[in-house]
Amino acid sequence: MPDQLANSYYRATANVWERRLAFSGDESFDVAVIGGGFTGLSAALACAEKGLKVALFEAHSIGFGASGRNGGQLIPGLRWSMREIDEEFGRERAQAIYDLAYGAVERVKSRIAKDGIQCDLKAGHLEAAFKPDHYRAMQRDAEYLAKEFGWESEIVDPKDMGRHINGGGYHGGIYDRQGGHFHPLNYTLGLAKAALDAGVVIFEHSPVLKIAGNQACTANGIATAQSILLAADNWMGDLDRALGGYTVPIMNYNIATAPLPDADSLLPSDAAVADSRFVLNYFRLSADKRLIFGGGEKYVQSPPADIAAFVRKHIVDVFPSLAETPIDYAWGGAVGVTMNRLPHMGRKGNVFFAHGFSGHGALVTTLAGELLAEAVTGTMERFDVFANLPQQPFPGGRLFARPLATLGLLWYALRDRL
Ligand SMILES: Cc1cc2nc3c(=O)[nH]c(=O)nc-3n(C[C@H](O)[C@H](O)[C@H](O)COP(=O)(O)OP(=O)(O)OC[C@H]3O[C@@H](n4cnc5c(N)ncnc54)[C@H](O)[C@@H]3O)c2cc1C
Repeated sequence: MPDQLANSYYRATANVWERRLAFSGDESFDVAVIGGGFTGLSAALACAEKGLKVALFEAHSIGFGASGRNGGQLIPGLRWSMREIDEEFGRERAQAIYDLAYGAVERVKSRIAKDGIQCDLKAGHLEAAFKPDHYRAMQRDAEYLAKEFGWESEIVDPKDMGRHINGGGYHGGIYDRQGGHFHPLNYTLGLAKAALDAGVVIFEHSPVLKIAGNQACTANGIATAQSILLAADNWMGDLDRALGGYTVPIMNYNIATAPLPDADSLLPSDAAVADSRFVLNYFRLSADKRLIFGGGEKYVQSPPADIAAFVRKHIVDVFPSLAETPIDYAWGGAVGVTMNRLPHMGRKGNVFFAHGFSGHGALVTTLAGELLAEAVTGTMERFDVFANLPQQPFPGGRLFARPLATLGLLWYALRDRL
């Protein structure tokens, strides 16, 4: 991935992190974790807290992937509503999925509290309806979630949207005070520091090039481990071609404006907002009152020539008054998306894996890491709730999966404009 994509507001405001050395030599561990994002770090930390000897290998620097670049939106649940999950899987499985997916909110909050992670955590998430029928569907889903599972959120009438957002012309929404937003790179670095304190050995600039049995091999060393945890998201295919077929990377772009004098009037409740377009706009205020805005995605990996101009079109749709506001940072990253938008977790012998959180990873990955740690210590029950979610690879194999997925995604994006 080109470096310019990592030139983000988050990098510029990252907490101090002392770079870790690359791996070399031969060493044995109980667990080798591949990937230094939310999933891998949470897994490594949870394994170390269980008394295991753990090494974590990150190809670049901690937080290089989606975890250090995302919108920071903390959206409870998965991409499917609980109504859809209930209908598809039946109540018993739906309840188990609910317990994990919505329980993930508490896992992140308690990590932040327990490990004293400074990451600008704020409460409140608003889902804003782009069309009136989206609002009606949101209402139905929110009512179902409250009645059947006990998760309370607030239905926001179109005329009351100004309490949360002044812009966008949205047709109502759902405000969830248990959701929120944070500085994702500083959360990632906080997890990494906690992992170090718990005894995890972290190696940066140490891409694992091959997994052979119980060995993870880098250019300069071989780590032998009883269990290997694969948490490399969009790069799984480099190590396991078959696993790579389960996701496609969708490029998504973010900007941070200069600090805004009128920030609080644009987003009075300081909620993070995501709208209901298929290619959604999502935005929030940073701690220093910049607008952090994500909008527009691309199905080829090369970034637009001017990321700021690419995203600005979408900002102006929501906040026309920001047409000339300076944009200080612009960056992007790849969202790992599965066919059905549910995460893909499982086990292949001594290798346990989790990826494909499909744009809903900021909360659930911390829990997924903890489930990986439970699985390596032989407790499979909760891990299996996610591992048993149905998944299939994208059709088309290595050559055609991406173009075929692209066609499907373009069709859905087009529907928003009709
Ligand atoms: C632009 C963008 C915006 C997003 N916005 C949101 C949002 O607002 N809310 C939300 O819930 N989700 C969002 N997401 C999704 C969310 O960020 C991801 O689901 C989550 O970060 C995935 O975490 P992860 O640890 O599984 O993967 P990653 O964070 O991608 O970490 C994987 C790591 O593995 C490393 N790696 C890869 N291969 C190897 C190897 N061979 N050896 C060693 N290391 C390797 C990579 O360098 C990388 O650091 C967004 C994603 C993007 C890209």
